[in-house]
Order: sequence, then structure tokens, then C-alpha cells
Amino acid sequence: MSEIKVTVWNEYRHEKQNEHVAGIYPEGIHNAIAQHLAKQDGLQVRTATLDEPDHGLTDEVLRDTDVLTWWGHLAHGEVRDDIVEKVRRRVLEGMGLIVLHSGHGSKIFERLLGTQTGALKWRDDGEKERLWVIEHGHPIADGLGEYIEIPKEEMYGERFEIPAPDELVFISWFEGGEVFRSGCTYRRGKGKLFYFRPGHETFPIYHQPEILQVIANAVRWAAPVQGAQACYGRVAPIESVRP
Ligand code: ZN
Repeated sequence: MSEIKVTVWNEYRHEKQNEHVAGIYPEGIHNAIAQHLAKQDGLQVRTATLDEPDHGLTDEVLRDTDVLTWWGHLAHGEVRDDIVEKVRRRVLEGMGLIVLHSGHGSKIFERLLGTQTGALKWRDDGEKERLWVIEHGHPIADGLGEYIEIPKEEMYGERFEIPAPDELVFISWFEGGEVFRSGCTYRRGKGKLFYFRPGHETFPIYHQPEILQVIANAVRWAAPVQGAQACYGRVAPIESVRP
């Protein structure tokens, strides 16, 4: 089997602007994720960030990407519309997309899901989160226990303004009482999309083994398959059609 080519994209602003975040992710969130993925068999990993030319997502990089992971927060508005459109087209052609944490507010998430605001409740008090596995046979949950516990996280609460997911893999409970649909799958065209909630930048979420494991599982799940041939537009009949 050929290797899955993964591009780990990060806005990479908090780590440059906030000493506390830089202490947790000295090389950026993207490198914390990429270094874990690079250790997995069959994955070929590169990173890309907002401030690189074309946000690091040139036509060549996008053509050469099977699965793109996306972390953004402060600068969703700075992501160029033409790049977002290219990413959207690649997903429809079959590229996998994994949207992490505050990526729910990104242009690409909104365009692919048809949401306008990605609205939700939040509270940044560092409370306990328990992510319950709902679909225990799903490949994204492979190797996990009944739940994942994160000692301190930002809370995201329902109502989360998304279309009903194709599959709900995780539901979160928070210490403060709220719940949230934390692991949601969608199909768009030939592509697969997974939204995974944890990952607030002020906590070491992408150093937690189960979280990295879910991301690695999701990369494998979202990798393109060849699929069947499709045909569009007016076509001649296969059998002769009698008037
Ligand atoms: Zn956050």
C-alpha cells in the first residue's frame, strides 16, 4: 500500500504571540502533531502555516496531499478565499480533511458544511473534559477505552451550529455541566471530513497520547480511496430505448 501523504496546517500565531503557549508548543502546534504522525507506519508528513507563501498550500502541495489537518483560531479571516476554494475542491475530489478545535470557525469548515457562524458556547476556565466514545466500532476510535479524559480544557457547549453529522464518534461532558458533539464525520463529494474538538492552545492537549492517537486514526480513516467512476451530464442510453 502506498504511503498516506499528510499536510498538518496551523495558523501558528498564538505560539508566536503568547509566551505560555510557546512554552507548551515551542515548535508550534503543527510540529507537535506532525512529529507524532511521522512516527506512524505508512504516513508521510509535512507541515504548512498561514504566513508561508500561499499559506504553505500551493497547488503542488495540495495535489500531493491525501489528508489535510487544520488548526486555526485568531486569523480565520486572513486565509485567502482562493486557497479555501482550492482546498474545498480537493476535498470534493477525495482529499481527507480533519478540522481541529477552533477550526469550527474556519472558512473551509463553513464552506464545506454550509454553516454561517460555527456558533457554540464556550468557557476558558480549564475544566475537566470527558470524551465518551459513542461508536466503539468506528476506525477513528480504534484502540481507545470507553472514554478519554482531559484534566484541563476549554469548554465548548451545545448548541453547536452544525448540520447533523453522518456519524457521531464522540460526545464530551464538561465539569461545568455542558455537553458537546466532539467527534463528527461528514462526507462531501468523494472526500471525508472529521471534526475533532479538543485542542485549546493554552493546555498541552496535543501532547496527550489518546488525542494524538485519535488524530492518527482519523488520518487513516480520511485517506482517499480510488472509488468508482462517475459520469455527469446528458448521456446516450446503455440499452436501446423504444419510444
Ligand atoms: Zn480554544
